[in-house]
Amino acid sequence: MSTLFDVLWDDRSVFEAGLLDDQEDILNRLDGASVYHLELNIDPDMTHLAGREEVRYTNTEDAPLTEIYFHLFPNILDGSSKVTNLRVNNRPVEGQLSNRNSALQVPLAAPLKVGESVVVTLDFSVKVPTEAGATYGAFSCLDNILALPHAYPMIAVYDDEGWNIEVPPTYGDVVYADTSFYLARVIAPSDLTIIASGVEIETEEDAGTQTVTFAAGPMRDFYLAASNDYVVTSQIVDGTLINSYAPPDVSDSAEQALEYVVDAVNTFNYRVGPYPFTELDLLATPTTAGGIEYPGAIVVALSLYQNPNDFFELATAHETAHQWFYSAVGSDQVDDPWLDESLTQYATWMYFREVYGEQGGAQFERQMNDFWRGASDTNIPIGLPVAAYSDSDYGSIVYGKGPIFFNTLAETMGEDAFDAFLRDYYQSYRWGISTPEALKTLAEEHCGCNLTPLFEEWVFGEG
Ligand SMILES: [Zn+2]
Repeated sequence: MSTLFDVLWDDRSVFEAGLLDDQEDILNRLDGASVYHLELNIDPDMTHLAGREEVRYTNTEDAPLTEIYFHLFPNILDGSSKVTNLRVNNRPVEGQLSNRNSALQVPLAAPLKVGESVVVTLDFSVKVPTEAGATYGAFSCLDNILALPHAYPMIAVYDDEGWNIEVPPTYGDVVYADTSFYLARVIAPSDLTIIASGVEIETEEDAGTQTVTFAAGPMRDFYLAASNDYVVTSQIVDGTLINSYAPPDVSDSAEQALEYVVDAVNTFNYRVGPYPFTELDLLATPTTAGGIEYPGAIVVALSLYQNPNDFFELATAHETAHQWFYSAVGSDQVDDPWLDESLTQYATWMYFREVYGEQGGAQFERQMNDFWRGASDTNIPIGLPVAAYSDSDYGSIVYGKGPIFFNTLAETMGEDAFDAFLRDYYQSYRWGISTPEALKTLAEEHCGCNLTPLFEEWVFGEG
């Protein structure tokens, strides 16, 4: 039993509220998914967070584990995170920091056998930067908006490379995570609007302090944001409540962005498969990236709300598509960024075709080709790790050439086979982790063709 919540670790009924009725079946699967219980105190100065975490981790790998690694992302995102009172099954242990203090090794007294679980508990304190810095201001308190992505200690992925704890280049996405469940109690000044992954299941108010409890999952991350300057407008699409949060002086843009998300969710529900959750939050933050994706939450740059241009719609549709490719279908965003980014960019193309017809599709194609031509060498393959690209080639190749590859793949397979493949890919790999080989193999099954030459030419660069 957790001490933060009076809920058994295996009781997932609390997550039903966040799932559409016909999607609740997932709660009977995902055996051994981590369960996080979090208590997060947001300081009135909005730049400090004090937290307590209790997480039940199960070894779902195929070998015993002698240690568990946690990411302390604030330490590489211009802020800081410090862990104290670390315990495993209620016994104090000494953790070891490495990789610029972004990796915390938690030793286990005895190897954790396959299928066995431990409970790790810890306290943590986080300092939030008040400048955008070199990390897009993704994690920051700017313009009265507090953005807290992966602010809690997050368990790293263990895969055939072992524990994935490398320090990622900050011009790509930093999170590679397994699907988990989150119960989070957020304590904050009452004047703040609190936005988070998942759904609110309880709210209390006492003497200027609010306590809001969220249930989120199955999700790979728990996103949290707060501001006393947000107003919200909402719409419902296929049973999902879509909320658009922004400061009141950009309310026209917030309405517009909500329309983009509504059209995008309609497009992807129809073309790829159903968005499973009852809620999706869109919010404007002062990030210097165009937008950033989180499970159940889409961030778009406040600067685009203030000066809306063509990129405003593209960024909003793109981040929405990530709910399908990244949030649901997982992948290693550090080593295989094309798996989610190039496919998300292709899905964005689908959005423009769906909403604006062939004209809109053709314009998007021209934009992507121009983007690709900006690369230092257009032959660079799309399938490299983030670190293998320069900052600008990363954009041109993964976001420009990448969608052109998927379009070529669709033409090679035939539209019907490609559409069936895409739906199967979403259905088969959501909540799990896809790999380049898995995507290629499934595509070959659907076309009954050999795609090795195409993948070597575009993706792996071995042709
Ligand atoms: Zn993206």
